[in-house]
Amino acid sequence: MGRINGVIMRCQFLGGAEEVGQVGLIAETPGGNLLFDYGFVASDPPGYPEPAPPVDHAFLSHAHVDHSGMIPWLVERYGSRIVGTTPTRDVSTLLAYDSYKICMFNGYPQPYNKRDIAMTKEYYDTFGYGETAHAHDLDVILHSAGHIPGSTMFEVRGDSTFVFTGDINTMDTQLVSAAKPVSCETLFLEGTYSGRTHPDRKTLEHEFLEKVDEVVSRGGRALIPAFAVGRTQEILLILNKSGYDIRLDGMGKRVLRHYLDNPEFLRDRRKLQDVLSNHQLQFVKNQFQRESALDGEVIITTSGMLQGGPILSYIRKVKDDPKSAVLLTGYQVEGTNGRNVLERQSIMLDNQLHRLNCEVEYYDFSAHAGHDELLGFVEACDPDRVVLFHSQDRSFLAEDIRATGKEVLTPLRKETFEI
Ligand SMILES: [Zn+2]
Ligand SMILES: [Zn+2]
Repeated sequence: MGRINGVIMRCQFLGGAEEVGQVGLIAETPGGNLLFDYGFVASDPPGYPEPAPPVDHAFLSHAHVDHSGMIPWLVERYGSRIVGTTPTRDVSTLLAYDSYKICMFNGYPQPYNKRDIAMTKEYYDTFGYGETAHAHDLDVILHSAGHIPGSTMFEVRGDSTFVFTGDINTMDTQLVSAAKPVSCETLFLEGTYSGRTHPDRKTLEHEFLEKVDEVVSRGGRALIPAFAVGRTQEILLILNKSGYDIRLDGMGKRVLRHYLDNPEFLRDRRKLQDVLSNHQLQFVKNQFQRESALDGEVIITTSGMLQGGPILSYIRKVKDDPKSAVLLTGYQVEGTNGRNVLERQSIMLDNQLHRLNCEVEYYDFSAHAGHDELLGFVEACDPDRVVLFHSQDRSFLAEDIRATGKEVLTPLRKETFEI
């Protein structure tokens, strides 16, 4: 068993164990509880984790709502200090305001109010990669997780060391460099892509650019729905030297500013700054500009799963144009408009099902490590024990890791386990 300052550690997932989303991990240490991530799923209705017990310190791996969405609740309730990077603080604050607005709009109960969100910002202790935070006599070192700018793996050092990955990517993307292995006794590893692999990234980028070229050459518009956090900026980098007339709409614009304000968390700060000096890129700032955005050739906008936001007004305009195309750039969850578009070539607009006569394609620009990369990461970290979480089916990964002689735990939500 691993020990932290002489004591066997008891842990519990408040959510995000046998599911993707609403992540929260409690680790009991001799000095008090530590919490890793605390998020909710902005589904319909929203999905929440179990209520967290009092914690002095919470460690936030990254800004995505399924990891960060409940942090304002935590701060309001317990005044917990939050450890994370500056982009995580700034972008999760932006997303908390956005979730609050969406919850209000849909008439769902709010776990917190706007004042709580504003107050939460003051409770962050921000660190850079390689720096050490202290909590209950423990040293906690921050490492890049390679998932989005500012995303962090936490290495907790005691008599034995454990690492919490948050969401990780072990391959370089345009935006961030790959996560590097950290040797430890216990590895809490996300398993989103258990049993699934990704296409080769270079080939994928090439195919994507060729498709955009084909659409533009035949006189159509390439509509690119993209998640605001990470994906929008990644797509901008891929398209930056393409020479197309690009219009950028949605929340990805504000996230881009936050990333440019914190260039030390980017793989290549100059490349993202170059995006801003691209005269072929125009920001869509108001309704008037939105009306004329289809004068451009490529439109990148939220939401990534077509669940709302500016993308719907663009789809209305191009859905009957066979020369145009909707190019999906991320995983489409079951039950979303994006999934319907992909599988049935149809979309709900104003409570009516519409057929899409334009082209629809999907490109797997995932920011998560695939099955084989996760296995390689485990081998390189060389832990005694792996705790799998953040996965709908951990069995494939569990089996392959066990075959290497390591212990694998797959705890369920609320189940107490020892490491
Ligand atoms: Zn994430
Ligand atoms: Zn996640």
